[in-house]
Amino acid sequence: MNLIETTRQFATDDQCLDYLEAARWPNGVCCVHCGVLNVSTITRKAGKKNKRARIYQCLEKECGKQFSATSGTIFNDTHLPLTKWFMAIAMICEAKKGMSAKQLERHLGVNYRTAWHLCHRIREAMQDGGDFLTGVVEADETYLTPKKPRKGKPYVKKEKRDIVLGMIERGGRLRLIPIADAKREIIEPVLEAHISPDATLQTDGHATYGIITEHKWVGKHRVIDHNRSYAWGDVHTNTIENAFSQLKRGIYGTFHKVSIKHLGRYCNEFSYRFNRREQQLQMFDSTLKNLTRGEALPYRKLVSKSTIDERQQ
Ligand SMILES: [Zn+2]
Repeated sequence: MNLIETTRQFATDDQCLDYLEAARWPNGVCCVHCGVLNVSTITRKAGKKNKRARIYQCLEKECGKQFSATSGTIFNDTHLPLTKWFMAIAMICEAKKGMSAKQLERHLGVNYRTAWHLCHRIREAMQDGGDFLTGVVEADETYLTPKKPRKGKPYVKKEKRDIVLGMIERGGRLRLIPIADAKREIIEPVLEAHISPDATLQTDGHATYGIITEHKWVGKHRVIDHNRSYAWGDVHTNTIENAFSQLKRGIYGTFHKVSIKHLGRYCNEFSYRFNRREQQLQMFDSTLKNLTRGEALPYRKLVSKSTIDERQQ
């Protein structure tokens, strides 16, 4: 699904509503308040007073409420037209390196604050749940703050750098988890939460992993010593390294700086997109479904404290 198709398919509010209804009610429109299928359609002129042109009336005696395809979803309380929401979702799904609020502001012709809030709410919907990673799983950590200070920026001590722990199935799914420190006490529970005890763990020679696998993944831990070589047959951590470099290109190239408060959401977005790289259409669908299900992320919550950096993006 490319942007031209998206523009064509979701050019009007009506088209977006059709899509939303089909996604939300695959078995026919049912009342969002009581769940009955016994509803009637009301068509009216959309305007200042009536936001949606198409609403439904529940015919159940006890209920009798009105609703639309956006009722109870994030799309209901927004002043932004559905067409712009859909366009934004398509663009963010499409952007391999991520999409900054600045870019979205330009493309959609909305103000910066709206674009920024939109980005974060869509990102919030890009979440992978899921079971254990299995097979051969590469794990490694990476420091996101560049070692060399950037122009006009002070040097950042190693302890203060943002760290992300990455785990990836060979030929499969990716997880990126921000961690506070590359210590065993912090890494171990994350590995345990995401990697099957039956998996083969592949890491570099970092001592932490050696200590962890003294009692976990015993006999199923393969180590590549980077002081000697970067690959020994299929003993390597190149898959996770590639994912890291893609993440960094996105963070440095598109977002310039990500405040630690939002790092988790950025990581989710990257792994979500990475895990659906072959399925653009499903990605759009599942993001949209998550948005209709999820809670709205209020602007207030996003800007609470320490997001001054972020808002410069
Ligand atoms: Zn009802």
